[in-house]
Amino acid sequence: MSEREIPADVLLRAINASGDVVLVYRVDPDGKMRLTYMNDAYARQTGYTREEALGRELDAFRLAMPDDEGMRAIRTAFATGQAGAGELISYRKDGSTFWNEITVQPIVENGRVTHWVTIERDISSEVERTSALAEEHDRLLALVRAARRLFTVFDARELVARVKEVVRDLIGAEVHVLAANPAGASVEVEDLGTEVTFSAVGDDRIARAIGGKGRIVDEVGRRAIVYAGQYGDSRYVLDASVGGARRLRNTDLFVLDLIAEYFAVAARNVALYHELDERRSAVMELNQTKSDLIAMLAHDFRGPLTSVVGFAELIAEVGELNEEQLEFLESIKRSALQLSELASDTLTLSRLERNEVGLQFADVDVAELVRGIAEQYADRREVDVTVAADAHVTGDEERLRQVFSNLIDNAIKYSPGKSSPSVEIVGAPDAVVVSVRDKGIGIPTAELSTIFDRFSRATNARKLGISGTGFGLFLTKQLVQLHGGTIAVESREGEGSKFVVTLPRRVVRAAAPRTIVIFDENRDGSFLAHGLREGGYRVRTAAAVDEVLAIADSESLDAVIVNVEEATLASDQAARLRAFSRERSIPIIAIGGESSPRLGAIAAVPKPVLAGDLLAILERIRPLALHLAR
Ligand code: ADP
Repeated sequence: MSEREIPADVLLRAINASGDVVLVYRVDPDGKMRLTYMNDAYARQTGYTREEALGRELDAFRLAMPDDEGMRAIRTAFATGQAGAGELISYRKDGSTFWNEITVQPIVENGRVTHWVTIERDISSEVERTSALAEEHDRLLALVRAARRLFTVFDARELVARVKEVVRDLIGAEVHVLAANPAGASVEVEDLGTEVTFSAVGDDRIARAIGGKGRIVDEVGRRAIVYAGQYGDSRYVLDASVGGARRLRNTDLFVLDLIAEYFAVAARNVALYHELDERRSAVMELNQTKSDLIAMLAHDFRGPLTSVVGFAELIAEVGELNEEQLEFLESIKRSALQLSELASDTLTLSRLERNEVGLQFADVDVAELVRGIAEQYADRREVDVTVAADAHVTGDEERLRQVFSNLIDNAIKYSPGKSSPSVEIVGAPDAVVVSVRDKGIGIPTAELSTIFDRFSRATNARKLGISGTGFGLFLTKQLVQLHGGTIAVESREGEGSKFVVTLPRRVVRAAAPRTIVIFDENRDGSFLAHGLREGGYRVRTAAAVDEVLAIADSESLDAVIVNVEEATLASDQAARLRAFSRERSIPIIAIGGESSPRLGAIAAVPKPVLAGDLLAILERIRPLALHLAR
């Protein structure tokens, strides 16, 4: 015997010591397989002794077993003479079962399979562990989903309905939401925070659940009362029960506790949301009133002012006026004109605030426009206009007139030394640059960064007593931006200022504030609308699909935000929105839905939605915006 060879009895002892079962079947000429060898592990695993097992036919053990996937793999191996493996349920001598992992290997001699060696291992505990883990995993996942279902509710009624569903789905228990007082008197509710009349008699269990802010289970384990927080003046409990022979297991109770905690947090969210919404509405209402008032005043001012200017012109015609009277008259006219401009700026400003400034884009020759304005100022000051290029842009002529009038007016007003301002217009292939320059009082360097803010006035202008309101530049900047342009300033106190407006020749819609529609059946998207307006969007709201289409017909839309529960959106409505979105290439963003194939939404934002999330998505779809085809 060479050194590498092992005596057969040593080998057999080693095999007997193995934890895995080792069996050898002999294949008889008639094809039947009989057990010719088994190790000790087999006896340990199945309870069969050698006397009982050896010599028996394989069929007697196994082939009567269920035709599952594992068994089929093994049978195929035997039938084809190839090695194979499978996991299957096996029986012990006492009839009990275990999970068995089996590999089978043929022994071939002279091209014939003479024996099969099978190695088997009891994997029951592994299988159990895996399935326990899977169950745990499923349960955790269900809890996460439950949390999501509860935390995304904004309405108290819906929260009550949803918590019932969640408990039913998760632990199969019926749950009632009860408003209760510390004495245990209670009443079932469908809503939270409403006035309730408690039953006369208190329930001790409810009182204890509330007192301990915890859970009380009845003796038979069929009913559990769990404290679920406070909302307004009432405390709430979840009263859960299972019917029939069922009992609430520990895991059920654990889940119930968690749901009750979720409920308490969700109820607080609902309360906060409503409070916030009310405050927001109040602020928005106030804002609206303010801006209505301003718009009304500005509008009503203009009529009387026109009369003042008109009659001031006429007065000289009805009789001789002396030199001094004429001078006073001139001063009245100037002040009235100034007031009237102020009124019209105010009006524009309030329209801007309300997102009512719709630009009428057309071809505008900026050179011609600026020359016209300069002429209007000719009696006050000479304005030198140089034009170095073709200066056509796509823009709203009236708004651009306001822009350059404001700048030229300032250049004159803030040059008390009577020096002449100058305007220089140069062109680039894709933009027109207009610089308005003066040799006036200039702006202190420290104040340059805020000069475009609303109501901002420089200290030197105030000191010199030059009248002004400080929102001309604010308005100017807004109007320039609506054209997709920019405005910048260079200035030195005592030397002069230069305001530079750059207007793109073709307005790229993506650069100008864009219009979106919020489709919301309850119009409670007010909060979103507000947030998006703050983000620089022009926002319209629509309560029906028809309204969305009507808005799209009257102005160019960049996106439609659908804030309607998918479930309540009738399928024909969804289909129409989808068709509309496809035809016009206007993207739809759905709120609340996990995904919205019915709507064909390009994105879905889960609730609770924050304006910031929406802005980020709108920002992402920016590249989709097209150039204005004019
Ligand atoms: P208003 O002229 O009515 O005060 P604007 O918004 O047009 O309001 O201007 C804001 C402030 O910027 C002015 O009050 C003034 O201090 C400063 N300013 C604007 N234009 C000039 C200019 N060309 N030269 C010096 N200061 C200027």
